[in-house]
Amino acid sequence: MVSPRPAVAALAAYAPGEQPQGGGWVKLNTNELPFPPPPAAVEAIRKAAGDRLNRYPDPTGLAFRQTAANRLGLKPDWILPGNGSDEILTLLIRTFCRSADGRSDSPTGTGDLIASPHPTYTLYRTLAEIQNCPFEPVPLKGDWSWDWDRVEDVKQRAKLFFVPVPNSPSGTVWDAETLGRLIPDDGLLVLDGAYADFEDGHLGLELLEGPRGESIVLTRTLSKSYGLAGLRIGYAAARPEVIAAMAKVKDSYNCDALALAGGTAALNDPPWLEKTVEAIRAERQRLIDGLASLGFVVEPSGGNFVFCTHPDRKHKGRFDFLKERRILVRYFAFTNWPDGTPDGLRITVGTKEETDALLAELAKFSG
Ligand code: PMP
Repeated sequence: MVSPRPAVAALAAYAPGEQPQGGGWVKLNTNELPFPPPPAAVEAIRKAAGDRLNRYPDPTGLAFRQTAANRLGLKPDWILPGNGSDEILTLLIRTFCRSADGRSDSPTGTGDLIASPHPTYTLYRTLAEIQNCPFEPVPLKGDWSWDWDRVEDVKQRAKLFFVPVPNSPSGTVWDAETLGRLIPDDGLLVLDGAYADFEDGHLGLELLEGPRGESIVLTRTLSKSYGLAGLRIGYAAARPEVIAAMAKVKDSYNCDALALAGGTAALNDPPWLEKTVEAIRAERQRLIDGLASLGFVVEPSGGNFVFCTHPDRKHKGRFDFLKERRILVRYFAFTNWPDGTPDGLRITVGTKEETDALLAELAKFSG
């Protein structure tokens, strides 16, 4: 067999959450919405499917960009649509980071540093490794707050600093002042807002419009709050120079006609989003209260999920116990996090019935 690049050969396979394709599961493991997407989005997808599928989609995604820009009070040239926000993360690395392999255009040959807090979304590291860029985790303190000595050090060297707000798996929301202190000296702070709508859809906007705005990128996805994980559409919001550079790197038709049509219609329905977010927040509180009554310690969360630990530390046992009963949650074990919990469970906010089923099974667990 032809060998892949050494950086790829060395890579461990990325392990996203389990995605059983059949029914019969209470699926609380990958932070999807438990409800269907906005009817207007489904209708727009149907219409697009019956219309012009023989033609390529708009490579600039203009209608989508206009709608997304309106939502944030920006201009369309501040927006780049992506095949899910994961594609935006990839594009950022491909656009801004020199790799460390033999064909690198890096003057030092070491590549550009990519950083993220730890623990966080593990894809950042994987993407850095694929691109053969150095990666540095910045360990958070045990309470998920920043260790400023570590931040000051990494800020001087990072080209991209990926920071999800709310963070995953913890749900932590850092305020704007704290986020402003994370901007690299000569790089971009990428505020990954996959879960921003559950807290405040405008999260990070004041930094983007502020004096250091040229160093800020916001990402958004329609996979979570809009119930469109299956459609694959997200976007970046950044200064036009940043967007223009990324647009050179993306595939011409990175977003298909259905995704652009459905995504545009979804973003055009703010009342639907408002109602949905309200329902998820109310259910999140019920989940938190139910877990607390079973003895769990639950982290404050701004997302559509909660991270919890139990004093008896039988987290893996509970994960397995639930899975045997066709309830999927996410088990996290953290390596190289000296100050923090060794492991815990992340549970997506589901429907009322799903929360009830989860809590009923957890109450039966005896280890
Ligand atoms: N960022 C974070 C923090 C996430 O949890 C996810 C979902 N796995 C994503 C980005 C990517 O979402 P998508 O590609 O579906 O937009």
